[in-house]
Amino acid sequence: MSKILFASSEVYPFAKTGGLADVAHSLPRALQNDYEIEVIMPLYCSIDKERYGILPLAQSFRITMGETQYPIEMYGCSYEGIDYRFVYSPLLCEREFLYGTATDDYEDNARRFGLFSYAIRALLKGNDYDIVHLNDWQCALVALLVHEDHDITTKTLYTIHNLAYQGLFEPTVLQELGISESYFTHEALEFYGKVNFMKGGIAYSNRITTVSPTYAKEILTPEEGCGLEGFLQCYRHKLMGILNGIDPEHFSPLLDGALISPYTNVKGKKPSKSDLLKQLGLKGVTKPLFVFIGRFVSQKGMDLLIETLPKMATMECTIAILGEGEEHYYRALKSLSEQYINIHFTLGYDEPFAHRLYGAADFLLMPSLFEPCGLNQMIAFAYGAIPIVHRVGGLVDSVKRFENYDSQSDEGYGVVFFTPTSRSLFLAIRKSMELYSDKKLFESLSNHNMQCDFSWNQSAKLYATLYDSLLMGETV
Ligand code: ADP
Repeated sequence: MSKILFASSEVYPFAKTGGLADVAHSLPRALQNDYEIEVIMPLYCSIDKERYGILPLAQSFRITMGETQYPIEMYGCSYEGIDYRFVYSPLLCEREFLYGTATDDYEDNARRFGLFSYAIRALLKGNDYDIVHLNDWQCALVALLVHEDHDITTKTLYTIHNLAYQGLFEPTVLQELGISESYFTHEALEFYGKVNFMKGGIAYSNRITTVSPTYAKEILTPEEGCGLEGFLQCYRHKLMGILNGIDPEHFSPLLDGALISPYTNVKGKKPSKSDLLKQLGLKGVTKPLFVFIGRFVSQKGMDLLIETLPKMATMECTIAILGEGEEHYYRALKSLSEQYINIHFTLGYDEPFAHRLYGAADFLLMPSLFEPCGLNQMIAFAYGAIPIVHRVGGLVDSVKRFENYDSQSDEGYGVVFFTPTSRSLFLAIRKSMELYSDKKLFESLSNHNMQCDFSWNQSAKLYATLYDSLLMGETV
C-alpha cells in the first residue's frame, strides 16, 4: 500500500478553529482503506494527551533553522484507526491559542510554522512516504524544502483551504527560516515586498487542489484571487477543485451525543428545538429558528447579517448566533441581542453547543461574501436545517435553489440569494418564512436534504485518483 503523510496545523478532535480541522480528520479516514495514511500536526499545549493516549515516540532531534537550533520531540497515538504523529517544540506549541488572539496573530508565526515544516521534512527524510499532502499556508514551505532536497523522492500535493490566509511576513524572516534570499523573487516567495508562504506551496508542489470546483475557478479571477490570481494562472495546469465532504458519523443526528434526543427526520427535531429555546430563553417553538455559527469575520457576511438583524427581529422568528472573532462584530451582536428579545448571542467556540444549534435550527444563515467550500451548509443538511446561502464558491456546488426542488435528485436544497446585500439577504429570509409556513414543502425538503450524501464518498475517489496519478509519476 502506498504511504501518505497528511500534514495539517489543526485536526479535529485535537485542535480546531474551523473547517480545516474537520477535513484533516475526515478525509484521511475516508482514504484509510486504500492507503497507509498518517496524519501529522503540532502538539499544542491545549491538547489533552491523556485523553487521546498521546505518548512520546523514541524520536527526539534538533533542527537548525537559520542560525538557531530547536529541539523537537515526536509523539504519537492511534485514534479511530488513524495513526497520528505530533510535533512538539516549545516555540510551536506553548501558546494559549493556535495562531494568535482575536486581535493579533502571534508575531513569530513564520518561525513557528517554519519549524513545523522543517520537522515534516525531517520525517520525510527518514521514512518512505510516497506522498505528503500539505494543507494551507502553515504547511506550504514543506513543498519548497522538499523541492530543494534531492534526497527526498516524496511527491507533494498542496491544498488551499482559504486563499485569504496566505502567511505573509516581513522579508527578514527568510534569514530566521534559513531560506536563501534567492527565493525572494516574484517567481518564488516575494509578494508586494513580503514573504508569502502560500506561494511556496503553489510554486513547488507537484499538484494543487482547492476545496470546491467553483472556488478553483474563482481564485483565478481578480475579484477572488486575493492578489495571487496571476500567479495561480501560471500553475492552473496543476490545480483542481475537489468539493470537501463531512464525516457522516461525527455529524449525525442519530449518533450525536450532544443532542438530547436522537432523530432521523425533521419531526424528530422538536425536542431539540424546545430544549434549546428554553435554555436560551427564546420564546416561540412554532416560529422558525434561524441560527448562525461561525467566525466573526467579514468573509462570513457579518456586515450583511448585522445590518439585516434589526429587520429580521421584527418578524415572527427566533435567532441564535454562536461564534467568535473580530471584536467590533461581537460588540454589535451583543448590543442587538440586548435590544431584541428574539435574538440570542453566544460568544465563544463550543463544539457540542454548535451541534445542538444544528439539531434545533429550522434555517442556517450563511451569507458569506466568499466561501471556498463551507461545511456548515452540509452539516445543516445532515441535521435537517435548511441553509440560506449567498451563491458563491463551494455554496454554488453544494446548495441548489429550493424553487427547483426535485425529490428524486440527490442534491441538497436551500434558499439561495445572488447579490451580497442586506436587501437580498432580507428577501431570502422573507422567502424562508414563507417556505416555513408551507409545512408540507418545508418538511419534505428538510427530510430530502437529510438523506443526501455529503460524506467523502465521491470526493475521496477524486483524491485517490489524484494520489494515484502522482504515484505513477504522471506529469501535468
Ligand atoms: P471556516 O471558514 O471557519 O473553516 P467552514 O464552514 O469550512 O468554515 O467550517 C466551520 C466548522 O467550524 C464547522 O464544523 C462549524 O460547525 C464549526 N464552527 C465554526 N464556529 C464555531 C463555533 N463558534 N463553535 C463551534 N463550532 C464552530
